[in-house]
Amino acid sequence: MEPQDVMARIDALEARCPKLGHQVPFAYCRKEAVSLPCPRSLVCWGHRFPVELVLRKILSPEAFKAAFGTEPKSRVENLMEAIEAAKARCASSSEGSRRRGSPHP
Ligand code: SF4
Repeated sequence: MEPQDVMARIDALEARCPKLGHQVPFAYCRKEAVSLPCPRSLVCWGHRFPVELVLRKILSPEAFKAAFGTEPKSRVENLMEAIEAAKARCASSSEGSRRRGSPHP
C-alpha cells in the first residue's frame, strides 16, 4: 500500500467531535485551524491510531509546534479546571450574596 493510500484511509476515519457535536473525518481535524490541525487532535485521535506520529510526519516541525506548542490537556485536567472555575464562581457568588444581605453596605 502506498503512503497516500494509507493517508486516505486515515483521513476517512470518523470520530464524534466534542466541539461540533457530530461526526467529523480526520481529514477535517488535521486542517481544522486553517492549515493547521485542531489543537485537540492528539487527544481526540490518540486512542484510534498513532496520531502524533502521523502529524509529525506530514507537518513541518514549526507547524507541529504552532499547532501543539502547549501540550493538550487531558480530560482530567479539563475537569479539574472546570471544578476550580465553578468553585471560584460559587465563592464570588456567595460573597456577593453576603454583601447584598448585609444591613451595613
Ligand atoms: S480534533 Fe478537534 S475538530 Fe477533530 S474531533 Fe477533536 S475537537 Fe473536533
